[in-house]
Amino acid sequence: MQTLAKQSMVIVGAGHCGGRAAQALRSAGWAGVIHLVGDEPHAPYERPPLSKDLLTGDKTPTACALHSDEDWANLQVRRHVAQVTSIHPADHSVTLSNGEVLGYQSLLLAHGGKVRTLTIPGGDLPEVLTLRNLGDAAALAQRLQPGKRLLVVGGGFIGLEVAASARKLGCEVTVVEGAPRLMGRAVPEPVAERALALHRAQGVRVLLGASPQSIERTADGVRMLLADGTQLDADTVLAGIGIEPHLGLAQAAGLAVGRGIQVDAQLRTSVPGIFAAGDVAEFPSALSSQLIRQETWHNAETQAGIAAQNMLGGNATYTSLPWFWSDQYHYQLQVVGEPALAVTSATRALEDDGLVIFYLDASQRIVGACGWGEASRVAKELKLARTLVEKGVSASAEALADPATKLKALLK
Ligand SMILES: Cc1cc2nc3c(=O)[nH]c(=O)nc-3n(C[C@H](O)[C@H](O)[C@H](O)COP(=O)(O)OP(=O)(O)OC[C@H]3O[C@@H](n4cnc5c(N)ncnc54)[C@H](O)[C@@H]3O)c2cc1C
Repeated sequence: MQTLAKQSMVIVGAGHCGGRAAQALRSAGWAGVIHLVGDEPHAPYERPPLSKDLLTGDKTPTACALHSDEDWANLQVRRHVAQVTSIHPADHSVTLSNGEVLGYQSLLLAHGGKVRTLTIPGGDLPEVLTLRNLGDAAALAQRLQPGKRLLVVGGGFIGLEVAASARKLGCEVTVVEGAPRLMGRAVPEPVAERALALHRAQGVRVLLGASPQSIERTADGVRMLLADGTQLDADTVLAGIGIEPHLGLAQAAGLAVGRGIQVDAQLRTSVPGIFAAGDVAEFPSALSSQLIRQETWHNAETQAGIAAQNMLGGNATYTSLPWFWSDQYHYQLQVVGEPALAVTSATRALEDDGLVIFYLDASQRIVGACGWGEASRVAKELKLARTLVEKGVSASAEALADPATKLKALLK
């Protein structure tokens, strides 16, 4: 085992982060064996289109792939369609669900999370779906025919993106959210209000403070009962209520685990030779040093490269800022940095009821920004805002709120 292990890198999870890490190991010059173990039948792909262009049919599964078949052949990665069922740090090996044992020199845990399901009576009916992988997206897309009734449980990013896609496909859409507003604490109130107004203007029925109690079959679909007695009929229910990181494997192997698998700024877990990255990892924030976990494309993409370098003996530090986007209709939401570190904020108006909110700490340093509005405009503004946070620029709230202040000028 030890001889083989010295020549092998093992990656658990053939998702976005795992796929990128395999590529990064090769780019960094690793000529030995790379085992990429994933329990999905597909080669690694990007998940954001699953609730957007892929669902509406504007993008194909092939277009979501991280690499073409030719690229995979060139990378010479040994892909295993199996689950890793246990890790044995003492002899540097993992066991797969097919009984195979793989030795590793370094091991990367990039196996993401599992979607939460509805635990109410009827939550396990076949009409109740979740959305995490290509198979889920295909099953959902098949049911979103014009005129069909979709009931989305959860007014978070994925639920709202699916609602927007389903409207585009001509479905009748209802969203039920337990909280008094959409998108939880991840976005500020003014953005949640604008998103609510946009969805309602697009014909979505949105019920806030709604608590699903049960789902039962009817003659032509399903009926959901809410705590206040409201009954909602639908053909399909989508539970968009988040994920739980996969922590069992790491816990069983004795790795330190909190809200994710805990790693240091080099993405090393508490056990030598084992790294974690992507949705499953809890890591120190570059801005605050506090442990955070991110479920974002950017995090999976950028942590893969750092983890790969360090698996090869490097000492690279993960310094990238948190950043994510969500597309809903022709609008986009973006959040960069850590708004939670702010003591004050400044709001800058954009056209079409859009806005950018800047977040400032006690020394007026910009620690985060949140933008909502027409997609290309938000992309432009948030690109600059991201650079301002990265460079640790300080500015007054008045200057930031004034549309006459050129953001570029603050960079000088
Ligand atoms: C519908 C949808 C829309 C999204 N939209 C956006 C967006 O607009 N913007 C944004 O920033 N982010 C978005 N995200 C989030 C982003 O896609 C994730 O953060 C990213 O995919 C995380 O990558 P990962 O590699 O850490 O995990 P994953 O991509 O989940 O990959 C983990 C892989 O490991 C596999 N696995 C699990 N356990 C095991 C095991 N024991 N053995 C082997 N394999 C295992 C899983 O099946 C999976 O294939 C979206 C996610 C979804 C689901």
